[in-house]
Amino acid sequence: MPTPNPKDAMLLVTRATLADGREQQCVLIEAGRFKAIAPDLRPPEGCEVLDAQGYLLSAPFVDAHFHMDATLSHGLPRINQSGTLLEGIALWGELKPQLTQDALVERALTYCDWAVAKGLLAIRSHVDVCDERLLAVEALLHVRDKVKPYLDLQLVAFPQDGLLRSPNALVNLKRALDMGVDVVGGIPHFERTMADGAQSVRILCELAAERGLRVDMHCDESDDPLSRHVETLAFHTQRLGLRGRVTGSHLTSMHSMDNYYVSKLLPLMREAGLHAVANPLINITLQGRHDSYPRRRGMTRVPELLAAGINVGFGHDCVMDPWYSLGSADMLEVAQMGLHVAQMTSHQGMRDCFDAVTVNNARVLGLAGYGIEVGNAADCVLLQARDPVEAIRLRANRLWVMRRGEVIARSPAAAAALSLPGRAATVDWTLPRTADADGPHA
Ligand SMILES: [Zn+2]
Repeated sequence: MPTPNPKDAMLLVTRATLADGREQQCVLIEAGRFKAIAPDLRPPEGCEVLDAQGYLLSAPFVDAHFHMDATLSHGLPRINQSGTLLEGIALWGELKPQLTQDALVERALTYCDWAVAKGLLAIRSHVDVCDERLLAVEALLHVRDKVKPYLDLQLVAFPQDGLLRSPNALVNLKRALDMGVDVVGGIPHFERTMADGAQSVRILCELAAERGLRVDMHCDESDDPLSRHVETLAFHTQRLGLRGRVTGSHLTSMHSMDNYYVSKLLPLMREAGLHAVANPLINITLQGRHDSYPRRRGMTRVPELLAAGINVGFGHDCVMDPWYSLGSADMLEVAQMGLHVAQMTSHQGMRDCFDAVTVNNARVLGLAGYGIEVGNAADCVLLQARDPVEAIRLRANRLWVMRRGEVIARSPAAAAALSLPGRAATVDWTLPRTADADGPHA
């Protein structure tokens, strides 16, 4: 197994398959950056060599939507009995006064350990600013600094109880931004009226424009076909020149909207340069709860958004918190659920789902120098799979994870020992590559 690599050392990864289909590639890393990528590089003298054995060397996973202040709090102070979004919000309200900074920091750091082990090296997390003490903001700013050498944590000031509905939310949100929180958040569908929701979108977009910040709102997270906040978000993005800096998260109401209206909405979103983030595990779990049968899936229209030229990412949203009692920082689990819920089973659709947890999310966060290209920071993950589709199918094992040219996590290869007459002694669930990379998967 590889040993940790000093930052100024050279390292050659051999026999790697890249996400774009190039096989048998050598990747030379020097001083924490990708220096050369070609099929036949020779290791310079004294250079450590890592054999990728034909497996997929991918840029690290990125999560565009998470709640690190709530993660790993499952069961505190009680379990969500109904499993609904609204009971989750109520439960979080019960938990907030009991939170301590030490416990918040400890849980967040534990989650970051899980993330690194799964090759997830950049996370955008919302942080609730409706608690007067801003305890969670302080805790996550501390965590952001602490994990910086190995994980990019971007924080969103999130008025969970409503910007206008909750007293002092706007004042607290500005305090959080003053303290160094990166992105302006919002939750227009949780305001008292549609008009208040629209006003909150305007106020928050203007605030972001004044401060030169990005925006990421929980937007239209309901089954209401008449929810219209993403239209308002696109309007103010366009009006204020925030193109490429604004994200609508969830957008679940789009699932239920009238098709004619959506045909008008998609070009408006495209024109404004909005990013969209779906949260497949949470959307399929929390939406449609007021339906009998047929029961709506509730996830936004991912293939249609992509076809309209809109950047779509997938977020994990929740792991073991008041809203969701499962999850393990595995963005391939997120991709797999997104693929199923959106029925993205074409070869291109499956690859799009891999992009939704890697490069598309990197665009949402505005990460500079992301990807396995010469000159970029040497951040990557070796997956025990031959291509992105197989990675999703297997929720592939992360053989090793690299940050700035240093291996920071390793997992043993996943395999089972067999005792069957006339059969191989081990099985590892991967298949040798057959046809060309763009052909049907064998
Ligand atoms: Zn969320």
